[in-house]
Amino acid sequence: MRKMDYFVPGRRTEGGHRPWALARYLQPMPAGVAAAYAEACTEPGEVVLDPFCQSEVVVREAVEAGRKAIAVNFNPAIVLAVRGRLAWPDPRELDAAVTRLGDSPKLGVPLREHLEGLYQTPCPRCHRPAVADHFVWDREKREPVERSYRCQACGSEGTAPVEPADLEALERIETRGFHYWYILDRVAPPGDEGRDQAQRLLNLYTPRNLYALASLLIKIETLFPQSALRDALKTVLLSCLDSCSSLHPPQGGEAPPRTSRPRPPQRFVERNVWRAFEAAYDGMRSCAPLAGIRLAEGAEEIVAPDLLALAEGGPPNVLIKAWTVRRLARELPSGSVTLILADPPRPDPYFWALSYLWSGWLFGPRAAAPFKPLLRRKRSDWDWYCRAMEATFRALRRLLKNGGRLVLAFAEEADAPRPRLEALLLAASGAGFDLEGLAYRPDGEDEYRLSFAKAAKSAVEEVPAAPDAEALARQMRAQAEAAAQEVLRERGEPLAWPWLHAAIYHRLSRSGLLRQAMAVDEEGFSPLDFAAQQVRTALEEAEGLVRLGELWWLKEPGRAARPLADRVEEAVCEVLREAPSREALERAIYARFPGLLTPEEGLIGACLGSYGREVEPGRWQLRAEDQLGRRERQREEVRAHLLELGKRLGFAVQADAEGFDVLWREDGQVAYAFVVLRTAILSDVLLARGKPSGAQRCIAIPEERASLVEFKLGHNPLLRRAVAEGRWQFVKWPYLAQLAQAREVTRHDLKKIMGLRPIVERAEAQIPLF
Ligand SMILES: [Zn+2]
Repeated sequence: MRKMDYFVPGRRTEGGHRPWALARYLQPMPAGVAAAYAEACTEPGEVVLDPFCQSEVVVREAVEAGRKAIAVNFNPAIVLAVRGRLAWPDPRELDAAVTRLGDSPKLGVPLREHLEGLYQTPCPRCHRPAVADHFVWDREKREPVERSYRCQACGSEGTAPVEPADLEALERIETRGFHYWYILDRVAPPGDEGRDQAQRLLNLYTPRNLYALASLLIKIETLFPQSALRDALKTVLLSCLDSCSSLHPPQGGEAPPRTSRPRPPQRFVERNVWRAFEAAYDGMRSCAPLAGIRLAEGAEEIVAPDLLALAEGGPPNVLIKAWTVRRLARELPSGSVTLILADPPRPDPYFWALSYLWSGWLFGPRAAAPFKPLLRRKRSDWDWYCRAMEATFRALRRLLKNGGRLVLAFAEEADAPRPRLEALLLAASGAGFDLEGLAYRPDGEDEYRLSFAKAAKSAVEEVPAAPDAEALARQMRAQAEAAAQEVLRERGEPLAWPWLHAAIYHRLSRSGLLRQAMAVDEEGFSPLDFAAQQVRTALEEAEGLVRLGELWWLKEPGRAARPLADRVEEAVCEVLREAPSREALERAIYARFPGLLTPEEGLIGACLGSYGREVEPGRWQLRAEDQLGRRERQREEVRAHLLELGKRLGFAVQADAEGFDVLWREDGQVAYAFVVLRTAILSDVLLARGKPSGAQRCIAIPEERASLVEFKLGHNPLLRRAVAEGRWQFVKWPYLAQLAQAREVTRHDLKKIMGLRPIVERAEAQIPLF
């Protein structure tokens, strides 16, 4: 079993939201992450657990790798949606079921006709009855103001203001009829503490849509006692509970902010429920089913499969349940899981409120009950989150076998504080997990990979029952500053706050200080605030650190390593010799620069652009110019050009002097000093040379290095400063060659080719080189 302390990149599923229920609320694990961890941390047949399941991704990749998977989420709506992705009934059976549902009689006509009839509207052109696809309501007026229709009779379609007939049709629907009370009782029966909340949430549906959605539920439950078909139809209905609420503004309209009390926008859409149902069904039907999934009914089928089951297609390999982790811990024997992999939940009161309603609506009050404690929370309460996650991690620890791993892979918004990361590290430490690796990569969102092993029992027990808070605070501050300095030294570059933050929490966790912080027992003490306070103070008071604008750097950088960007450049060049795929290249680079050394994707991309050539889609090779020996010969040519050029411009030239490749002198003084580089490794040149003597210093680089040089200068203020203070200039090789070969050449021509974007390249300047 390999230790995974390096960054495991994943692919976000392309193409926006898939046509599946709740997709827009969920954050699926990026593709490829689960596969990599399952491969490295488990053996075939072992169990991978996703305890906060948000999508089918972890299950799918575990099964594809020949592992068994357990996925749970306390939210029955999520589990319904995910289970649908994993085991969707035969499409022909489902088609027949949808037809049967639509054909089933309701008040003397087929249900389909009855539901469509609710949205009947007179055609504005021929005045015959047409059916509205949706109405747009005005929240203040409490009635529809516009309709979108298509007339079967005359073919006219479009939007039109509502007519009196549209309002009269609404009067025929009882606002507080049987359907309303039926659904309300399913969510919160009379006397239930959640009843007020449930009533507020039911107001998110127009009476017409509530009636239609309730009718569908009743029909589905009556007609389809068989659970696979019933669940599939309920998955479609779940999608409609979402799309047919009053929360959606018309196209181009604005939705109100997502708070714990969802409320409709000023203008909202009332969709035709039957049409929404058919559209949702078509969308889901078109999703490719997953192969190789054999669902288990209970936990024992996964952890102790009946040998007889081997006879037919193999034993079950997936268990997915709407269980809390606590319930899971009761159902599974301890030590039965080898890898726990999850994107830990983020507090989402808006989605909790909706899930409460939808879970009760679809499954009754017992399914809605777990949400009730969450609904009392008005906003994100991170202290509560930290304690709740600690309890959850304790339960998970029991399930993990010795030597097993807990991996948390998640993203945080850039430029935002990181309470979730902090809470998770504190909670896991407190629950008896040892942090093994923490990798951080900024890339649009800031991504984290945390890998934990089960702490030895003794390490957990060694924590004093009530550590001295003041002594602990001092230790944490000292460790925090040391960690910040260490990551700056190791990367050899000024860094933004999130790196320092990650390094500090990494060290506080590794040194057992977070575990002690969780054990401090004092009135009004929040481990989360306490740790954050020490980290803040440490950074504010750190004597060994300096600020460079937004970045941090070392006061005494003497012992810093070579800049990471330079080391990554060399590594990319090396890996390219093996003609890797882009993915393989990234994996190789991340493995060489693990944990807090993880380079940004942008740097890898810039190195790839500089040294690589895409020989076929996705496969890269080292550029022909960069093959062994070739660049060096070119470099010799450039040196020769420089000597030649200097002479023609009337300078006295000299090779290999004073640490430069070529010097041009005039009246005994150095006028130009050139360094000829094959690479974009600037630090050796820029940071090592002394102050300028009045000479123009130049770095000559291959054309292909220009954008990599720009990337490095853009990211490292030390290099920018050295360029400015040392009066350095860049010049690209091809221009030197052209100038050297030109029939006539003046000193003014030299100015035109200087710079990463020299005058000759600027279109607006329109200056021909010769
Ligand atoms: Zn018409």
